[in-house]
Amino acid sequence: MKTADEIRKLAKDEEITYLRMTFSDLNGALKNVEIPIDLLDVALNNKIKIDGSSIAGFLPIQSSDMYLYPDLDTWTIYPWITTGGKTASLICDVHNSDGTPFAGDPRFVLKQLDDSLNKLGCGHANVGAEMEYFLFKADEDGHLTDELNDQASYFDVYPDDRGEACRRETVNTLKTMGFSIEADHHEVAPGQCEIDFKFDDAVKTADRVQLLKLTTKAIAVKYGLRATFMPKPKAGVNGSGMHLNTSLFDGTKNLFDDQSGQNGLSELATHYLAGVLTHAQAFTAITNPTINSYKRLVPGYEAPTYVAWAIANRTALVRVPDGRGPQTRFELRSGDPAANPYLAIAAILAAGLDGIKQKLTPPKNVEDSIYDMSPEQRTAAQIVQLPSSLPDALKNLQADKALSEALGSVVPKYLQIKHDELTRFQLSVTDWEKKAYFNV
Ligand code: GLN
Ligand code: MG
Ligand code: MG
Ligand code: MG
Repeated sequence: MKTADEIRKLAKDEEITYLRMTFSDLNGALKNVEIPIDLLDVALNNKIKIDGSSIAGFLPIQSSDMYLYPDLDTWTIYPWITTGGKTASLICDVHNSDGTPFAGDPRFVLKQLDDSLNKLGCGHANVGAEMEYFLFKADEDGHLTDELNDQASYFDVYPDDRGEACRRETVNTLKTMGFSIEADHHEVAPGQCEIDFKFDDAVKTADRVQLLKLTTKAIAVKYGLRATFMPKPKAGVNGSGMHLNTSLFDGTKNLFDDQSGQNGLSELATHYLAGVLTHAQAFTAITNPTINSYKRLVPGYEAPTYVAWAIANRTALVRVPDGRGPQTRFELRSGDPAANPYLAIAAILAAGLDGIKQKLTPPKNVEDSIYDMSPEQRTAAQIVQLPSSLPDALKNLQADKALSEALGSVVPKYLQIKHDELTRFQLSVTDWEKKAYFNV
């Protein structure tokens, strides 16, 4: 744990001019208020104020004062800001004006869930995220074009490509910001990349997802490119996922690991898995939060469409990747990088927690391609479908009492902002409609 004095010293030694106090709204958008470094003590005393009524999913207009409580361990310098003063950031918890934590702060919701697991004797959650994104070209004026940056494919080596230099600089920047990078590579679709960093505590990983998205976008601009974490930016090719790998640890012991258990999994792990499968149709509203998310969850693009688990089969929703012992984990393959990482991880943990509490048992693993199974075969294997649209997913979330109870007051607020989003979409007319229906 860093102390306030250590932060003061870092600010001085690094000659920091500005400090970004950041937090995330309910949609997962990273927000910040910037202060000149002379106000560092105000920030360290938790006295930086924000207007909660202007933040998606936060407070009504009549009671809107909130305070930012910086988490000193999140001190990071933004290396891409090279003009106008060196800039550092602290990720903050959001508190009410009476000093209590704000129940609608996604970071707080995730902390609460992790605590609930711990109180039940299930240790703490460790989470690893695999981040996929696309690089599009910008034109000479810096405006986004519809042109992908390259025509390469999975794991291609593409030495002369601006995208590779851009990805390398992104990774190097993340390393200077304290990320432990495990891999970066070209993904299946043209213009698509992936960066993976080492798993850590649930909250730390969610913080890093936010920082990684920001960094990736900032570095892309330097290369005349635009990075997008939109789940399906281009029709006809793979979309971008955010696979989340979860395990429960008590100290250094992985509680999912049991060499004598079936598939090397402990009883706790199977209950957790069953909970995840049981609540998948509901938490999809959070792990796949946009209208566009459901254009990725279609057969044929390595994204799951059915609720099933597998050891190796990548058409399943949950996979138990190779590696047992400390590496034993469940990879949830449905989530996408548009999700609020705090809420998405909290929702998955809430699902697993319910499975543990109710001692649920999962159905048998499915190792055949689910895309190729007939409806009868799927029914026989107890395989249900993931929601195929945001409205369907929202209905499932609304109906899921256990998830609502575990996640608390954010759920009705989340449903509200998502229904507003659907209304805005309903009121818009897309190019596709004009093309398809103009000559009716
Ligand atoms: N891009 C795929 C998805 O939508 C995943 C592909 C992969 O990681 N092999 O989830
Ligand atoms: Mg991967
Ligand atoms: Mg991938
Ligand atoms: Mg993966």
